[in-house]
Amino acid sequence: MAVDVLIVGAGLSGIMAARTLLERGCTVRVIDKGRSVGGRLATRRVGENGLADHGAQFFTVRNSTLQRFVDRWRALDLAYVWGTGWSDGSVKRTVSDGHPRYAVRGGMNKLAKHLAQGIDISVDRLVVSVRERAEGWALEDSDGNACESRGLILTPPMPETLELLTASGVHLSEDDFAELRRIRFGPCLCGIHAVNGDVDLPEPGAMQNFQSEVYWVADNQAKGISNTTIITSHANAKFSRQNWDASEADIIRALESAVQPFLKRGARIVQTQLKKWRYSVPLTTHPQETLLASDLPPLAFAGDAFGGRGRVEGAFTSGLAAGTAMAEALASAN
Ligand SMILES: Cc1cc2nc3c(=O)[nH]c(=O)nc-3n(C[C@H](O)[C@H](O)[C@H](O)COP(=O)(O)OP(=O)(O)OC[C@H]3O[C@@H](n4cnc5c(N)ncnc54)[C@H](O)[C@@H]3O)c2cc1C
Repeated sequence: MAVDVLIVGAGLSGIMAARTLLERGCTVRVIDKGRSVGGRLATRRVGENGLADHGAQFFTVRNSTLQRFVDRWRALDLAYVWGTGWSDGSVKRTVSDGHPRYAVRGGMNKLAKHLAQGIDISVDRLVVSVRERAEGWALEDSDGNACESRGLILTPPMPETLELLTASGVHLSEDDFAELRRIRFGPCLCGIHAVNGDVDLPEPGAMQNFQSEVYWVADNQAKGISNTTIITSHANAKFSRQNWDASEADIIRALESAVQPFLKRGARIVQTQLKKWRYSVPLTTHPQETLLASDLPPLAFAGDAFGGRGRVEGAFTSGLAAGTAMAEALASAN
């Protein structure tokens, strides 16, 4: 069945675009290749009682629209202030800068699940082709399922979006292509470590130090989302790029040795899972919150790489902007 708008990606930006379009009376379908909604708002179960956020760890708010949503999520006890600053790991004291870092009860993925309620979303479907048709778009997934729409919003990290457009033979204008190609993403090697024993991370349970190869180490139990001790570690883009093709055992060894100083005497890592994020955060962003392609049926680009903010905040505002721009483009085409 045809819908007004197809959205590729059920991460935060795709979900917010869908909500905006639904509020404006459009019909929408969101398609995602992942097993569940959320994209990089990712939480993994570890053993019977453990949980770890292994994508976004927390989010900040500099925007009044997002603040209004956050106030609602806090009233629902969905979001809470995890802290107001991190230790750099060199001293035990955490320096507060007064800005709240929010986390989500039950893990960051719960936020995506909450926001996705009531939206027509198909998961486990890799979109392999998006083609122009007379008055819109035709999309196909890897199982050969097809759907049609008047408008299309693409939210995957830009390298994946450009790959999809190239494979589909969609010709962007030279200006659009040049702007989108400027967006770059960095990789992140992430460790999810199950620990037997106590952790010695400064309050509120994390260290962040951008001078270190492993710049983030956090205790999901101190964060309040796990009943057992599960640590998340993140390596920076340079280290992750250099070690991307190293053996899993070597990467895990490097991540574990960065975590070791934050374990109390007698505690030990009993298991480490490795997650490789090829596109973790944008290193260069587009200044506008969304981009409408020129000379094509309505096509909008969205995601955390739009609007200059990056991160959860950027994905949120970009999704809203893409939904609004698409609704306006469809209305003016009527
Ligand atoms: C390791 C890591 C740490 C981070 N830490 C923080 C943090 O502490 N604070 C913060 O604010 N942000 C952080 N971020 C960034 C934050 O997670 C993202 O900015 C935000 O979640 C991006 O949302 P999005 O909707 O733009 O993209 P995504 O969440 O990536 O959504 C895009 C979706 O598109 C889907 N997709 C891609 N290609 C296809 C296809 N061909 N067919 C179907 N579906 C497709 C993907 O499965 C995905 O679900 C971190 C990210 C990572 C990876």
